[in-house]
Amino acid sequence: MSRDDAVARVLAEHPPIDLHADTPSLMRVGYDFLRRHRPPLPRAALGYHVDLPRLRDGGFGGIFLGLVTSPIRFGDRVASVERQISLVESAARRSGGGLVAAASPGAFAAAPGRGAVAYAFGLEGAHALEGRLDPLDGWARRGLRYLTVTHFSRNRAGTPRVGLGMRPDDGLTGWGRALVEACESSRILVDVAHASVRTRADVLAVASAPVIVSHGGVAAVHPMWRNLDDDAVRAVARTGGVAGVIYGTQFLGGDTADVVAAHLEHLWRAGGEDLPALGSDWDGLIFMPRDLRDPTQIGNLVAALLDRRIPERIVGKMLRDNVLRVFDRPVGD
Ligand SMILES: [Zn+2]
Repeated sequence: MSRDDAVARVLAEHPPIDLHADTPSLMRVGYDFLRRHRPPLPRAALGYHVDLPRLRDGGFGGIFLGLVTSPIRFGDRVASVERQISLVESAARRSGGGLVAAASPGAFAAAPGRGAVAYAFGLEGAHALEGRLDPLDGWARRGLRYLTVTHFSRNRAGTPRVGLGMRPDDGLTGWGRALVEACESSRILVDVAHASVRTRADVLAVASAPVIVSHGGVAAVHPMWRNLDDDAVRAVARTGGVAGVIYGTQFLGGDTADVVAAHLEHLWRAGGEDLPALGSDWDGLIFMPRDLRDPTQIGNLVAALLDRRIPERIVGKMLRDNVLRVFDRPVGD
């Protein structure tokens, strides 16, 4: 059997689910999720990476869409989150069943059999809550499945690794602990991408549900501030969570799908087979590997993983099954 056949089989058996794409930021300024786009900038820089036609061409089964609000306050951030959710809901209504909400467990698993791509949301930064916890339940019902404690600014819950007002020695605050609890009771997982080392350690200490890293890399492959060292890799794995590998070349330390595969392989070897996942950060103002610029090119990553002699079963976990295990458990599990 040829390698192309093996790639096609792995993709068909494990329709990928990506943990992080920031496409709603584009939708706020008129980007139509249901139409096929061509990135306007050379090397597909910065955005126009994800839309439903290209997700389908790539064989994707699901995508987590990032809800981003400004670290500098202007306007009502809670309202901004709700506007972004509404834009995606409106696209789903117009999609003829092609785009469906994964607001409840089991929805990701069911989508490919219905010819659909399932979406859920990740909220990037607790500053979006404006100090409130009451919106979480309603947002969870509309598909919010994880919350990144910090984005690019210090907020009421904690402090980022790098960003406005960071204080590296500060960790999770009292309100941050209440936030972790509120998220868990709304079945929203807590994400420590962007968090300072101390904030991350505090979340890992207090969380009772799996903790995730939605988009990042590993320091063992490319040492840089945002990437996880092996202690952090193992700590996240111990919670039963997943870690999504980002495709931004500055985090990867390289410009090919094979470098993404190297980060995924290291997560597997250091943290176990239940840990690695995809967390592209497409549409998140990044520069990507030259052969992984949009969802239609996901086969290049699968080929790179198979070329590393990673068993198909493990590749399937990286593409899909680990995310399903963490996010698609039946209620009460
Ligand atoms: Zn981010």
